[in-house]
Formats: sequence, C-alpha cells, structure tokens
Amino acid sequence: MQDNHTAISNLIEAAKWISQQGWVPASGGNLSARTQNGFVITTNGCDKAQLTHEHFLQLDHQNLNTPQVLSSEAKLHLSLYQLIPEAQCVLHTQSVAATVLSQVTQAHQLDLSGYEMQKALSGFTSHLETLSIPIFDNDQDIDRLSLLVSDHHLHSPIKFGVLIRGHGLYAVGKNITEVRRHLEALEFLFSCELERLKITGIQASNTLHHR
Ligand SMILES: [Zn+2]
Repeated sequence: MQDNHTAISNLIEAAKWISQQGWVPASGGNLSARTQNGFVITTNGCDKAQLTHEHFLQLDHQNLNTPQVLSSEAKLHLSLYQLIPEAQCVLHTQSVAATVLSQVTQAHQLDLSGYEMQKALSGFTSHLETLSIPIFDNDQDIDRLSLLVSDHHLHSPIKFGVLIRGHGLYAVGKNITEVRRHLEALEFLFSCELERLKITGIQASNTLHHR
C-alpha cells in the first residue's frame, strides 16, 4: 500500500488530467486514496487543475473514528472503502454525461451493453455482458445516502462505482491505474449512451429494479 506522499502525488497528476477532460468544473468533485497510514482526500472547494500537497486532508486510522472532522463527501468516500476492501482509490467527477444520464434515468441503475469499451472494466470480457452502475438519489444527508449505498452493496456488490442522481460519478479501483481506467471507460460509455439517447430517444433501462 502507498504512503501518503506517493498517494497524493498520484492524485495530483490524476486531478490535472481529470480537469483537462472537463469532468470537475467549478472546483467540483474530489479524489481520495487509501494509504498505509489511513486515508487522504482533497479538501473542499479547490481547483483540481492546481492542486498541491496542501490541498489534501490526511487522516490516520485513529482520525477515521472521529468522522466529524470529515466533509460530508469525504464520508461517502470512506463508506466506499469500508464496503469494498480491495478499493484503494476513489475518484469523484461531475461530468455533463454522468449528471444528465443519472438525472434522466428513472431506474435505480444504468444498464449498458453492446459497447466494446465495457472490456476496459476489470472482469469484463465481452460487449454482450450487461454493465450495471447503481444510481442513488442525491441527498445532502450523507449518512442517509451512505446507508443506502451499504444496503445496496449487500445484495449487489459495487465493483466499478456509483452514480449520484444529477450530481456525478464515484469511480473505484484497486490502484490509481485501475481507477483511472475505470473512470475513463465509464465517462466514455456515459457520453456514448447520452449521444445514443439524444438520437434515438430510447432509454436502455427504465424498469424499476428492486433495491
Ligand atoms: Zn460531489
């Protein structure tokens, strides 16, 4: 596992790239990593193109038991690490495609199939498989939102990330390389799906799945 310094350097580099893609406008989004000492995450309200080591909150294992020091969104990052032991990195973006698609999809998940790019997600070997990304209603009460995410994970394990309706994507991965690939593939797929929807007007999944 990485030390804090290495993890932050990797996140700064990822943040520049994410910013260039236009996925974190107006200081949106936040990026975090699990480390040997605990957990590092971007502080709120900073421009992701201009991050330095000072823009990160570093929490050791002991601090993690006092979540009042955490911003609300940091709590969601932490919940994802608690739920998914192999997750080492969480990248939260607020792209146009993720925001709009999660807003117009009424179902509790976005189902994608037929795209070759699905194979960029670890474990996928065919475009014929269905990739399901859960969608949760946005909620300013993060404890309540985290509870819904944990509950969902119990019967349907979260592998690549979650969408928050009208808000954005939280992508997860077992290291910085994997999470960047997952994020790029998901954002590509969301853009394709949004384009497809604009042209055909047909939503891929609009059945309400039981949660
Ligand atoms: Zn956010």
